[in-house]
Amino acid sequence: MVRAATRTQAAPGIPLSNSAFETIIDAFHGCLTRMDPAGGDIWRTPPVVARALITEVGYGEYFPHLLGSVHVAAESGEISPTDLVLLPAGCYCIYPHYRGRTLMTPVDVGVEAICFRQESSHEVGRLRSFRMREFVHLDTELGCFGWRDEWLNRAEAWLSAIGLAPVRELASDPFFGAQRKVLAAMQRDQALKWELVVEVGPGIRQAVMSGNVHKTKFGDTFNITGPGGEAIHSACAAFGSDRLALALIHTHGPDPSAWPDTVRAQLILGGFA
Ligand code: AMP
Ligand code: ZN
Repeated sequence: MVRAATRTQAAPGIPLSNSAFETIIDAFHGCLTRMDPAGGDIWRTPPVVARALITEVGYGEYFPHLLGSVHVAAESGEISPTDLVLLPAGCYCIYPHYRGRTLMTPVDVGVEAICFRQESSHEVGRLRSFRMREFVHLDTELGCFGWRDEWLNRAEAWLSAIGLAPVRELASDPFFGAQRKVLAAMQRDQALKWELVVEVGPGIRQAVMSGNVHKTKFGDTFNITGPGGEAIHSACAAFGSDRLALALIHTHGPDPSAWPDTVRAQLILGGFA
């Protein structure tokens, strides 16, 4: 029996994972690639990103409590921040590549990211270092809402087929500071963020996927326009790879060779037989 397992390290939220666990994650990534109707390139990110970019998109203003920063010591011994922070989400790496451009047709890009967020709770599935597979879409407002809703439908069907019983919930991001309630209410009122929530541990329910529309936030920030010169809209469909693996292990057990045939077939998990 090959047990998929993670091991806690000295600090919470940064588990080690074994090869069976990684095989499950590779299987997810294979499924998601096959599910993507655009079939585009998948870019892989390093775990760090330019501080200037994260400042430009306002992350440090909206989510400073989650942001990790790279500091190093100068020869004097004085420790100071570098030009890098830890990447909090994959899609931020994509938009700047279209800076200043006019897009005559919609754009689709995939990205696989190593992310960091300084989470305040350390329940199962709430990691500080985790992997995210995202699909990003640049289009009109209508195009972005439609694309996001199609990804939610596709992901919901897939999660059901692998036995995770997803529930679709209207959601908001964990904004910081005095404006947080207003920002979250605005996000919910306009249905900008939906999540697919599953059980990842006994009585613990978390999102394994979010479908987001950003209106013209990134189009405005990076001066990306559509054919008529108007700011482009964007959307992303984001899957939490580690959380998905934890949810499957919680639901079907740690030995993937003993998982139901239908689940194994969906994931094309031949290697464990
Ligand atoms: P978000 O950008 O917050 O919508 O996150 C996209 C997806 O990444 C979520 O639906 C989760 O599956 C995953 N994710 C977000 N935060 C964490 C975390 N702290 N630990 C593990 N996975 C996470
Ligand atoms: Zn995103």
